[in-house]
Amino acid sequence: DLVANQIAAGEVVERPAAAVKELIENAIDAGAKKIQVIAKDGGLTLLEVQDDGSGIAPEDVKLAFLRHATSKLRNLGDLSKLRSLGFRGEALPSIAAISKVTLRTRIADAEEGVQVRFEAGQLVEQTPVGCPKGTRVTVQDLFYNTPARLKFVRSLQTENAHIVDVVARAAMARPDLSFRVQIDEREALHTLGDGSAFSAFTAIQGRNLAKAALWLSLTSPDYALAGLIVAPEFARKSRSDMWFAVNGRPIRSVALGNAVLAGYSTLVPKGRFPVVAISLSMNPTLIDVNVHPSKTEVRFSEERDVCALLTEAVKQTLEKGVA
Ligand code: ADP
Ligand code: MG
Repeated sequence: DLVANQIAAGEVVERPAAAVKELIENAIDAGAKKIQVIAKDGGLTLLEVQDDGSGIAPEDVKLAFLRHATSKLRNLGDLSKLRSLGFRGEALPSIAAISKVTLRTRIADAEEGVQVRFEAGQLVEQTPVGCPKGTRVTVQDLFYNTPARLKFVRSLQTENAHIVDVVARAAMARPDLSFRVQIDEREALHTLGDGSAFSAFTAIQGRNLAKAALWLSLTSPDYALAGLIVAPEFARKSRSDMWFAVNGRPIRSVALGNAVLAGYSTLVPKGRFPVVAISLSMNPTLIDVNVHPSKTEVRFSEERDVCALLTEAVKQTLEKGVA
């Protein structure tokens, strides 16, 4: 019901960028190769995510807006083998409960697509529509019926920055996919999706940092680490430019951050943090992503091993010192 969905929305959609994160996760899970994000006024008047993924079959479109209706998990056991980014079935109903959502979608086999419109969680329109294969979700007037939440929204620039950040992290985690972000008519990010981490890193961080980046790569029987780490003289004052992804999912991890710092050792002074973008691949049974509704925290079953490996990889990379 609407109230339950509004409560869930409080956890899932704390700001416009959180809605963007959920929508691009859905696009990625649908096998999209190109994902386009449009935001106006910090995402408060308009947020749109368009993908060229599988689309949703006409008979499933309404189901997608039901709480805990996910096509990605059939039982709890599946969670330990999770390959998809979503699994909670909360994002669409949560977003729809606090905005006006229009979704149009077409699967490859269908001649026509379907468009549905929800306002404050209620279906107000369902019509056939001509559209390309894939899905476009348009979110208008986010938080319009939750004024308390609207009050927490910071400046539009801050919200815009969060939107770009959330897409950039996803793009870095998936250099095989192309992401475009347009903010108030301006192109804020465009990654090519050519599969190269270096190309994604250059698009996101700019040429100067990319030129100062070193390739990191280390594999063990259980883990594969790969990514780019930037020379210590480019270290910053904030931890937030240490980026990590696990199995294609951007995550936040103090433990991994500390492991990177240990690898840089005395090369970066206390209170400085290197710019890094590191992807870890591992058997999904070795991580738990069901820690928080936002799914940006994970639990590693062997955290010490992962951290030791990461510290070693950073040390080796800095010693070799070649790009
Ligand atoms: P979850 O991602 O956890 O399954 P969501 O509420 O985000 O839950 O989405 C509900 C369902 O709607 C998904 O399981 C999926 O089947 C479908 N869906 C949502 N967005 C898309 C999309 N962009 N392309 C294809 N299917 C989608
Ligand atoms: Mg989802």
